[in-house]
Formats: sequence, C-alpha cells, structure tokens
Amino acid sequence: MKYLVAVLPGDGVGPDVVNEAIRTLNAVGRRFNHEFQYKFGLIGGISIDKHGRALTQETLQMCSECNAVLLGAVGGPKWDNPQAKARPEDGLLTIRKELDLYANLRPVKMLPMMENSTSLKPEIVRGVDLIVVRELTGGLYFGKPKKRWITKSGARRAVDSMVYTEKEIDRLIRVGWEIALKRRKKLTSVDKANVLESSRLWRQIALEISAEYPQVKLDSMLVDACAMRLIQNPTYFDVIVTENTFGDILTDEASLLSGSMGMLPSASLAGIPEGKNPRAFGLYEPIHGSAPDIAGLNQANPIATILSAAMMLHYSFGLSREAAAVESAVLKVLEEGYRSKDIMSAGMKQVGTIEMGKLIEESI
Ligand code: NAD
Repeated sequence: MKYLVAVLPGDGVGPDVVNEAIRTLNAVGRRFNHEFQYKFGLIGGISIDKHGRALTQETLQMCSECNAVLLGAVGGPKWDNPQAKARPEDGLLTIRKELDLYANLRPVKMLPMMENSTSLKPEIVRGVDLIVVRELTGGLYFGKPKKRWITKSGARRAVDSMVYTEKEIDRLIRVGWEIALKRRKKLTSVDKANVLESSRLWRQIALEISAEYPQVKLDSMLVDACAMRLIQNPTYFDVIVTENTFGDILTDEASLLSGSMGMLPSASLAGIPEGKNPRAFGLYEPIHGSAPDIAGLNQANPIATILSAAMMLHYSFGLSREAAAVESAVLKVLEEGYRSKDIMSAGMKQVGTIEMGKLIEESI
C-alpha cells in the first residue's frame, strides 16, 4: 500500500526528531512492504521568516491532500516577541482548527526500565499506563471575545472566553469512550463544574452519554483534584477526557510520569478512531516544544516523535501490527541500555539523536 504523509518539521529540534521518525517509517515500509511518500512544508518560525505567516494556505492545502501529517515543533527565542503580529504557535492553532483535529490523544506509559529516570518515586510511577484525550479546537484558546484593550480610565484589560458547544463536547467525550472500551474500561471526565458554566455542561453531557456505554465506568473529577491525583496515585487513571486548557496543563504534568518530555507522543484526530471507520485523518507530533537549547546538537530524544509515527500507523493507516513493531523496537533499544541525554542514568549507554534513530531502525 502507498501512504502519503505531509511532513512539517518546524523549528528548533523539530527537524532533528522528524528525520528519525521518517527513518522509522521507511524501515517499517521495507519490513512490511508499504510505501510511504512524503511532502514537505514549513510551519512556525521558519514559515514566518519565509512567508510572513506561520502557516500558508498552500501548506494547509498540501496537508489536507495527504493521508496524515507528521509535525516536529514550532517556536524559539527569535520569534518570542509578544507584540509580534505573526507567532509560531498561530501555525499550530490554524492547522488544528482548519483540519478539524479536535481530539488530541496523549498516551503516558511508564516503561519498567525507565522507573529511575523520573523525579518521582519509582513506587508511585510503576505501572502507569494512561491516555489523556484533550479537546483541541475549542475552549479558551479559540473562544470569542478574545482581546486586550485600554478602558476609558486608562487601565489595561484583557479577556479570553471559554466557550463550548454541545457538539464539541459530545464528539470529544465519545472518542474517550471508544478508546476506554478497548482498554481497562474506566473513563475520568475532568472539569471545573463547581465554578465554570462550560464545565457544568461538560459534566452533564458526559453523564448523558454514559448511559450508552454501560461497560465503561465513568467518574467526573475536578481539574484541581485531578492535578493532585496524577502525581499522588497516577495508576488510578485509565482514560482521561478533558477540555483544551485543562488538557494542555495536565499532559505536561503527566509527562513527568514517563521520565521525559522526549518520550511522549501525541495524535490529533479529526474523527473517532475506533468503531465503524477506524482510520481517522490525523496530525502526529511529540508533545515537547522546539527545545532551542539543544537544537541541531544531535542531543534531542527522537522517541516521542518515533512513537507519534507509530500512532499514525495505528490510527490513520489502520496498521496496528506495524505500530506494535515500532513500539517493540523502541522497548528493545531501551532494554539494551541505550539512552539519549535527557533520560541518561548510571550504567546506561548515552547516544545521540541520529544513533538512537538508527538503533530503532535496525531493531525494526
Ligand atoms: P520545550 O519542550 O521545547 O523544552 C523544555 C525542556 O525539555 C528543555 O530543557 C528541552 O531541552 C527539553 N526537551 C524538549 N524536548 C526534548 C527532547 N526531544 N529531547 C530532550 N530534551 C528535550 O519547552 P520550552 O523550552 O518551554 O519551549 C521552547 C519553545 O518551544 C518555545 O518557543 C515554545 O513556545 C515552543 N513550544 C512549542 C510546542 C509545539 O510545537 N507543540 C510545545 C511547547 C513549546
């Protein structure tokens, strides 16, 4: 089979880690007899430099014509000016909204050989295996009004709006449910229903849908309680569904549970990945940023991006056996003691970005 992948390496370590994900996909192609073709485009700061905007209409069009999108990261000190008209993150927000990538899946797993690579106690993180399903195209990041102004008295004011429609909440929660059905059948819906009206609607819709999924146990949890439980008792969780801002913050916190930002993949899907049509269009990227401090130094951990490519195989191409082969290859390389700098510990063998990519390629 032929698969067409749009590749947007972006800024900083983006190109470093994306190269290794492409190496991985090519190895999968050779082993399983698939052909992956790539179309490259610009996003983020590099696109601002060339075109004056973080994502052009042409690049967006190119992405929509492919079967999936592989993205690195955007941003860096060069484009950090908060007064600037064009910002690298605009590219991310635009592609998510325009391609309707509303469900962001972020699996967090503690691999047994990584227990000593986190700042949390091994007995807390042992056995962590959860997935956060974050709403990605609504809420505070997109709601209107959204503006900054000066009042008549000369004081500065700003507003962002947390707006959700029934449809946006319903479709996101259903993704969580479908995923929970294939896992340990436990769904935690996270909100702030004691204070926010949008959260009260969220909680009500979660309860209503729960009647359709009697096999799955639902609990609703306040976001502050969830933030605490994630580091106190993370094995409590199986699937978490939550709105955009809460999900953004909780997943950075959850990244601690797996050892490093460099280990966490993500998928942003435009449909429910399970059920009748298991192949959803999606964008796949590591959860980390452009890490300008180590960009181009062959130090970035490519595993998050390689595991994102594995998610692409599973969710967009329906190639579960191939996805499992990538995950096993990553495990094997880690079991053999190879580590990038961010996850290095005593007695292990430190390797660079490219070496790590090549080891995983060989293992596939
Ligand atoms: P970051 O994730 O880029 O880096 C945080 C820390 O983690 C740094 O010490 C970095 O070296 C390390 N790190 C990140 N990825 C790593 C990897 N693959 N291997 C090893 N170490 C890794 O976050 P930041 O420093 O807050 O932000 C840097 C830039 O990235 C900013 O411009 C920010 O706006 C942008 N950003 C982009 C995204 C995205 O593209 N999705 C997400 C977050 C931040």
